Amino acid sequence: MSPNPNPNLVTDRATFVTHLECSMTGERYEADQLHGLSRVGRPLLVRYDLDAVRANLPRGMLTARPTDLWRWRELLPVRHTASIVSLGEIETPLVPLEKSALGGDVLVKDEGRLPTGSFKARGLVMAVAMAKELGVTRIAMPTNGNAGAALAAYCSRIGIETIVFCPADTPEINVREIAMQGARVWRVNGLIDDCGAIVGRGAAEGRWFDFSTLKEPYRIEGKKTMGLELAAQLGWTLPDAIFYPTGGGTGLIGMWKAFDELEKLGWIGPKRPQMYAVQAAGCAPIVKAFEDGVEHAERWEGAHTIAAGIRVPRAVGDFLILRAVRESGGRALAVTDEEIEAAVHDASVRDGLLMCPEGGATLAAYRRARGQGLVSESDRCVLFNCATGLKYPMPPAPHSLDKDGPIDFDLL
Ligand SMILES: *Cc1c(COP(=O)(O)O)cnc(C)c1O
Repeated sequence: MSPNPNPNLVTDRATFVTHLECSMTGERYEADQLHGLSRVGRPLLVRYDLDAVRANLPRGMLTARPTDLWRWRELLPVRHTASIVSLGEIETPLVPLEKSALGGDVLVKDEGRLPTGSFKARGLVMAVAMAKELGVTRIAMPTNGNAGAALAAYCSRIGIETIVFCPADTPEINVREIAMQGARVWRVNGLIDDCGAIVGRGAAEGRWFDFSTLKEPYRIEGKKTMGLELAAQLGWTLPDAIFYPTGGGTGLIGMWKAFDELEKLGWIGPKRPQMYAVQAAGCAPIVKAFEDGVEHAERWEGAHTIAAGIRVPRAVGDFLILRAVRESGGRALAVTDEEIEAAVHDASVRDGLLMCPEGGATLAAYRRARGQGLVSESDRCVLFNCATGLKYPMPPAPHSLDKDGPIDFDLL
């Protein structure tokens, strides 16, 4: 039996990748070779022969396929489907928020439905397939939790060894799921960039391949599928605004790239959503750089927030995030932990959608943007809930009942 019963994965194929390109200088790099950052220390972007994609993939052919991530294979880098381990990367639903979003036209892209419970699965399923294809046998990664879990799951399945480093105060469930899925996981008394420094030292000694955010080229390609999917789900239109909880910014950069590729295919027009990069007030380097009008962000000192996934003091793709936000006419916005908690509570209690804190941050930012008149009630806005709310601490539910005693039914 084929290891991949999904019809989107049954045929072996070539790709339309032409080369890789430095996101800062435009310098070209060969495809089919193992790459980290470019020579100037910036992310590499994958480029495709989009004219050939257009000739080979009519839009109707795409829409006839099952809706999962692999329907986009012509716009993805994997050459041999045998390199792919799939855990079922479904198209995630757009869930309308009614009561908690001030009556606006708000859709939540609920990424918590993906394997390992977060959208890190999109990036890692792609990056792991490429690592396999290019002969990598051992990978190390710094993580705030969800990326490490997705890495461990896909690598265990395909037979690549993984070593994962996370800040000591990473949510306990994340640390345990990483270990449970087969990685060697280490808690480090520092932040994610301190963990990244350890990964970098080991990589320089040739001990493993460095899978830090944007330090290998293929996670962006996986995350790009969020933008492709969104366009297809909305009938080849894009929303007026997208609110994205921004740590390393992979998803925001990836979606911006996706929209460009879709326009070059002639599948969407030039209109773009305003991109809102959402950060926590306790760790907002991109917001500060946005407000200061500069192209690069300084490291944020003393980073703290309950939204662990966006507690990233320094992002190697800072200029790409800022560029997309500015070109789109959007903004970078910071919200407090109190606003995040209130948003998570409201969406859960009033709309029945349990979001992760980072997802709550996008709702908090949306409310703020509405309050400031940046978006209006009729603007169609998409918020990203990047992980299932079930992974995060919840308030206690303290009531219990003695079945043998008297029961006051009026109190129940
Ligand atoms: C990783 C993560 C983010 C940030 O995603 P980036 O694309 O790296 O900015 C946001 N929320 C959650 C839950 C995450 O795990």
